[in-house]
Amino acid sequence: MSIIGLTADEIVKDLNLTIPINLNKICENYNIKILYRNINSADGYFIPTKKKIIISNKIKGTYKERFTISHELGHYFNVNDKTYELDAYCYSDYKAKQKQSKLEREADEFAAELLMPKAFIKKKIENIDIKDWKKLIELSLEYEVSLAAMLIKYIDNSYEKNRIGCFYNNRLIWQYGNQFDFVIEQNILNGQEKMNLYTKNRNSDWIKGNYDFTEEVLIDKGNIKYLLISVYTSED
Ligand SMILES: [Zn+2]
Repeated sequence: MSIIGLTADEIVKDLNLTIPINLNKICENYNIKILYRNINSADGYFIPTKKKIIISNKIKGTYKERFTISHELGHYFNVNDKTYELDAYCYSDYKAKQKQSKLEREADEFAAELLMPKAFIKKKIENIDIKDWKKLIELSLEYEVSLAAMLIKYIDNSYEKNRIGCFYNNRLIWQYGNQFDFVIEQNILNGQEKMNLYTKNRNSDWIKGNYDFTEEVLIDKGNIKYLLISVYTSED
């Protein structure tokens, strides 16, 4: 029986999954193995012919691991029978993880939907006022996704037109949503700082909700609101 082509929503429904989404249950059900390796140039990749997801030891136990496993599952379920024969995914994530090809975008969308299914989350977030964005921290902990992933979900599902920029120790490291219509310092992150925002360990204080946002600015431009968050942490 071919199961290729299932959507994230169908998988959640078929397996009666609840929040936080149990990824092991999905992998067991579809006979997909997860293996951990010392790899540096990618968070993970998928080997279609062997039905193996390879995850970097560096992100083991983090929300980033959950998103990466879901992304690789996206490669498995998104492909059609023809492309499934290829081992290309194995290499696309390994050699060019930043390359945003259509397949990579689709795998990210699959991952976001799998971990934060509309059926569960839409009603919870569509009416949140951007002023109350800290509710999204609680939701990110409940769904076991990074705050960044939850912020994206929020912007995509909110009735308001919002844009969010996250700063880490005064540097803009991430932004999403409608375009800023004022000049903002461009992304000058280095990889390590970006990593910090995305991949805090599930057991650390930071991810338990003990965020230290020393600055937040909400700029209301009428139909668009811009939230700028500064994250300061002395960790790592
Ligand atoms: Zn990928």
